[in-house]
Amino acid sequence: MKLYLVFFIFIVGVIFPNYSYCSENNEKDFSEQSNLNLEDKESFNAILSQAQLWVKQQEEKFSHSGRQLSIQEFFMAKAMGVQYPEQVRVVVIADFPIPTQQPLLNEYKSIGFTSPEVGGQAFGYTILIKPRYAGKDWLLLHELVHVAQFERIGIKRFVARYLIELKTLGYRDSLIEIEAREKSQSYISG
Ligand SMILES: [Zn+2]
Repeated sequence: MKLYLVFFIFIVGVIFPNYSYCSENNEKDFSEQSNLNLEDKESFNAILSQAQLWVKQQEEKFSHSGRQLSIQEFFMAKAMGVQYPEQVRVVVIADFPIPTQQPLLNEYKSIGFTSPEVGGQAFGYTILIKPRYAGKDWLLLHELVHVAQFERIGIKRFVARYLIELKTLGYRDSLIEIEAREKSQSYISG
């Protein structure tokens, strides 16, 4: 288990912040080449493939009920690095979806995604926002950085990296989250 963590910390350190030179299958290669024991590899891959599918399904499902960005939000998205802001959809919804299958459900709970504290979530181009955060630019900006990250590397690779970072670095120190926090805060502070 220790080797597993050390390996992923190393990989995360090496591959970020430059996403571009990684091949499509890198995350799978990491798990194949690492010193993970068979059980760890299998459980990681099971969670990963369920998570990748689930994120795609949520993007698709909620995009139909979402609104497009306003003109002001369009430029906010551009500033956060989103290439195609016209594809973004925003859905204000009180109850965020929770996966029903295991092992993804347990993983989801242990990350803290089921917490009522979660105010926004991005699934590809679809952004979900809890009603009490609707109209809060700081939250939308944060989620728009995640949209840009999805765009840069694709849903599958984004989910793989996010999962690896959450497991090895934790939510606050995840490089994906640090980028979202820093970019959105620097926009707000002008
Ligand atoms: Zn975030």
